[in-house]
Amino acid sequence: MLVDLGAIVANWRDLSARHASGPVAGVVKADAYGLGAGPVARALAEAGCRHFFVAQFSEGLALRAALGAGPMIAVLGGFPPGADGGAGLTPVLNGPTDIAAARAAGLTGAILHVDTGMERLGLNAAELAAAGDLSALGLRYVMTHLACADEAGHPLTALQATRFAAARAALPGLPASFANSAGLFLGEEFASDLARPGCALYGINPTPGRPNPMRQVMRLLVPILQIRDIAPGTTVGYGAAWTAARPSRIATIAAGYADGYLRALSGRGTAFVEGQAAPLVGRVSMDLITLDVTDAPAAQVGGMAELIGPAQTPDHLAALAGTIGYEILTSLGARYRRRHSPA
Ligand SMILES: *Cc1c(COP(=O)(O)O)cnc(C)c1O
Repeated sequence: MLVDLGAIVANWRDLSARHASGPVAGVVKADAYGLGAGPVARALAEAGCRHFFVAQFSEGLALRAALGAGPMIAVLGGFPPGADGGAGLTPVLNGPTDIAAARAAGLTGAILHVDTGMERLGLNAAELAAAGDLSALGLRYVMTHLACADEAGHPLTALQATRFAAARAALPGLPASFANSAGLFLGEEFASDLARPGCALYGINPTPGRPNPMRQVMRLLVPILQIRDIAPGTTVGYGAAWTAARPSRIATIAAGYADGYLRALSGRGTAFVEGQAAPLVGRVSMDLITLDVTDAPAAQVGGMAELIGPAQTPDHLAALAGTIGYEILTSLGARYRRRHSPA
């Protein structure tokens, strides 16, 4: 897997240029959406990114080790019981219990998460009012998260802006963090002191239904293990699910659903060999995929087949599999070697 750190940094700069009201963080949870949190965050930090978000405390510890002291590393899921701020991580307080724990521990500098319509994590308006005076907590930001920013004109998005404005008014002077990737394309109401994009950094379209404004950042190349010639009427793979209609050349490549190449892509995905299309045939196995390379004469044993790249983006594969590009990226398996080109 080739990860183009320069393209990720360029995407971060593009998003930064769209957000004049404050800096743009890097959301690098889930190993930077599968692309390698350490190298990705280091490249962003070198480009000037000073704020990072992960989901879990353990991700935060690993990221601190990778980045060293300095940048803010916020843990969206909050701290586990008993964890302290020793590693210099910033917890997100997601509810009244978290606030009580922070007060009891004398923990300061956290981010307060208010819920404005996701109903997942965060204090609702009543809980925020009941929380009373939060000034002793020395909060860094108040944040909220958009539920439908990628669906143009969804009524909940405007409602969330109104509710977040009310929460901010109740916490005067506290910096705010609002937009995710899609939110950065929604306009002024969604601007804040810190944007939190993830997917757009990694080339996923933050404006579904419109042309993708982001650069593609990765290519997934898999070695061809074998090529065989089969006669018409021969079936390929589990369930004998595909039958050759003509004399065919079948290439077997070294990836499967155990590597996150979804089994739902059986008979739907396409690989590319030196730019020549080679459709998937038969079912995706755990560790192997079979391709029809009859019309891809460049295919040879020891060569590479591209499963994800500019010709077949994560968003495109997601559409074929009935999912979202996020899931395609975060499913990328641990067996792939991630090679990061310098930024
Ligand atoms: C994942 C996440 C983000 C980033 O969302 P994208 O849609 O990938 O830009 C921002 N904020 C929170 C709270 C998240 O969970």
